[in-house]
Amino acid sequence: MNLNLTIQKFLKKWPDWFRSLLPDRYKRELVRTGSCVRCGSCCRDINLRYQSRWIKDEVEFIDMKGDDQEYLRFQSSGKDHYGHLIFQCRYLLENGSCGDYQNRPDICRSYPTKSLMLSGGTLPPSCGYQISLTIPFDKRLEHAIEKQDK
Ligand code: SF4
Ligand code: SF4
Repeated sequence: MNLNLTIQKFLKKWPDWFRSLLPDRYKRELVRTGSCVRCGSCCRDINLRYQSRWIKDEVEFIDMKGDDQEYLRFQSSGKDHYGHLIFQCRYLLENGSCGDYQNRPDICRSYPTKSLMLSGGTLPPSCGYQISLTIPFDKRLEHAIEKQDK
C-alpha cells in the first residue's frame, strides 16, 4: 500500500479550512476575494457569540445587550439546527444595503473573516465573496522572482 497516496486521498476528503491548519509546502493560505453584492443574507441570518459561546437563548442575549448596546440592533428570528439563535438586523434596508453603514459594528466591517471558515462556518450562496485555500499573490511573486534569480 502506498502510504503517501492513502494520506493524500484522506486529506482530499477534508474541507479546505481543515487543510489550512496543516503545514503546507506550497505556502497556501485562506484568501478572501470578491466583494459585497448587497444580497443582505449576512444581515438576516446571524449567529452571535457571547463569552466564547454561541447564543442559544434570549436570557444570554439580554446579558449580551446589557454589556454592549451595539447589539440592540439585532433581534432573534428563530433557531438553527444546532439550537443557536438566529438574528436579523433592524438596519437592513429592502435593497440589501445597510441603513447604519457609518456606525455598523466591527463584526459587520470584518465580515466574512477567515476565522469564520476555520470555525466551520460557510458563506451564504448569494454572497459575492469567496474564501479559498490558495497561494497568495505576494507568495507567487516571491517564488517567480526566486526562480528568475537562479
Ligand atoms: S449594521 Fe448594517 S451591515 Fe451590520 S447587520 Fe445591520 S444592516 Fe447588516
Ligand atoms: S452575504 Fe456577502 S454579499 Fe451578501 S450582504 Fe453579506 S457580505 Fe455582502
